[in-house]
Amino acid sequence: MNTQSNDELVFLPLGGTGEIGMNLNLYGCRGKWLIVDLGVSFGDDSTPGVEVFMPDPAFIADRHENLLGIVLTHAHEDHLGAVAHLWPRLRCPVYASPFAASLLRTKLVEANLESEVRVHVVPLGGRVQLGPFGVEFVTQTHSIPEPNSLAIDTPFGRLLHTGDWKFDPKPMIGAAADIARLGALGDEGILALIGDSTNVFKQGAAGSESDVRDSLTELLGRYKRRIAVACFATNVARVESIAVAAAAHDRHVALVGRSLWRIDKAARENGYLTDIAPFLTEHDAGYLPEDKVVYICTGSQGEPRAALARIANDSHPHVTLKADDVVIFSSRIIPGNEKSIFRLQNQLIRQGVEVITEKDHFVHVSGHPGRDEMIRLYGLVRPRISVPVHGEARHLREHAQLARDCGVGQAMVLQDGEMLKLAPGNVEVVAVVPTGRLAVDGTRLVPMDSVIMRDRHRMVHNGSAVVTIVLDRLGKLLGDPQISAHGLLDAEHEANAHEAVVEAVRDAIDEMPRPARQNDELVREATRLALRRHLKQSHGKKPLTDVHLVRV
Ligand SMILES: [Zn+2]
Ligand SMILES: [Zn+2]
Repeated sequence: MNTQSNDELVFLPLGGTGEIGMNLNLYGCRGKWLIVDLGVSFGDDSTPGVEVFMPDPAFIADRHENLLGIVLTHAHEDHLGAVAHLWPRLRCPVYASPFAASLLRTKLVEANLESEVRVHVVPLGGRVQLGPFGVEFVTQTHSIPEPNSLAIDTPFGRLLHTGDWKFDPKPMIGAAADIARLGALGDEGILALIGDSTNVFKQGAAGSESDVRDSLTELLGRYKRRIAVACFATNVARVESIAVAAAAHDRHVALVGRSLWRIDKAARENGYLTDIAPFLTEHDAGYLPEDKVVYICTGSQGEPRAALARIANDSHPHVTLKADDVVIFSSRIIPGNEKSIFRLQNQLIRQGVEVITEKDHFVHVSGHPGRDEMIRLYGLVRPRISVPVHGEARHLREHAQLARDCGVGQAMVLQDGEMLKLAPGNVEVVAVVPTGRLAVDGTRLVPMDSVIMRDRHRMVHNGSAVVTIVLDRLGKLLGDPQISAHGLLDAEHEANAHEAVVEAVRDAIDEMPRPARQNDELVREATRLALRRHLKQSHGKKPLTDVHLVRV
């Protein structure tokens, strides 16, 4: 298997190609490697106990001496969130825009890595040379400050890695996308475009933040009571839009939620939000009349510990909402979060709070390109090859078709772990390398497919049963087996059921021939079987079982 990328140029996604989230892209050239983006995904009902997970970087960790650097396109968690977790396995310099570097440094401080990791700040429009890779930051627009496409020069030709993007003529924060530069790159020739597929099913264009600002300004004028607006903390332009809309109606703005304050600090450090008065704390805002305040809250996705959920269930120390107050969800529903968002909205509505979402009013635009924008980009860049990324299989296939319709000669749909040779010669998958996911489990990273996570899953769905038996040397049972079945059987209130399990285990051991009872392994297996069989019959469950055998 060729995994050394010798005299050729390869692209190898380890995360983010086949799912939306946890991006990890590798470019390989003449034995050297470059990582573009290193992000996380967030857990849901299918990943009990796991809130955050990320791609397993084993392939590149094994070759880290040939890893030249990690280049970050922008500061979203799905692009930057894994750096502090995985850097100790990669140990290479990191390159990021000023705003992304600010947010990354905060994370590195929390992980005690700030003195080890070299974070190089690349100015907008700047360029860095890393071995055979010349990487130019091309200004884009998105839903966070300083998004970049990367034009990557190699001895085999130039690539354009789009990152997350859209064409917003008036992004309100930062410059509009550098369309002139994209066109010039196209004129000079692009070998391959590796691009965002998120909104390939959306007709038209994403829409502009400036229109959201106008719409919010009109909307806020309709209300005389308290207003809370939930949005993504990283969407600094949206935070500014809400602040501008509030000021137009003589309202002050308070931030509610830690991540909003963290982003506010990084934004102001980098020269954003300079025309916006410092935000009030939730505590200070409590003294204002209800028609003089707007709360900007975290928790638009229904996250149970975020500000809005706590306000909704009346457990927030400083902010309360009453009947006829208004909550505006200035955000979209991230697929998978429907249940928790609707639960939160129902809770608010039951209290008489008016809930406004993007279904009711124009309060949100996406940060990703609709089809019209994608077609326009292909017209500008005119790559020879298209490699859709940042999408599930259905997005990637649709994006590949769109690229072909735009006249791209070859559009390649990959999966994580497939190494695509871009040049020289045929464009083809030349190797498939192992991939996986690592979960943040307390203070450790644990493979999602490990025994630990499998057992965790089983305990959540079926409970657990542990039995302790004490035998003498000849195999005689000394005392009753001790059984605890957490999440399955309440020994205190279900004494009969509990006694029946004990009996089943005792009978199973008693029925064993004497020589077998002297063999620990045979006793354990018989006990385990009896326990399982009984609980399957009595409870219809197959718990995680464990047998402790003590010989005295
Ligand atoms: Zn993004
Ligand atoms: Zn993204």
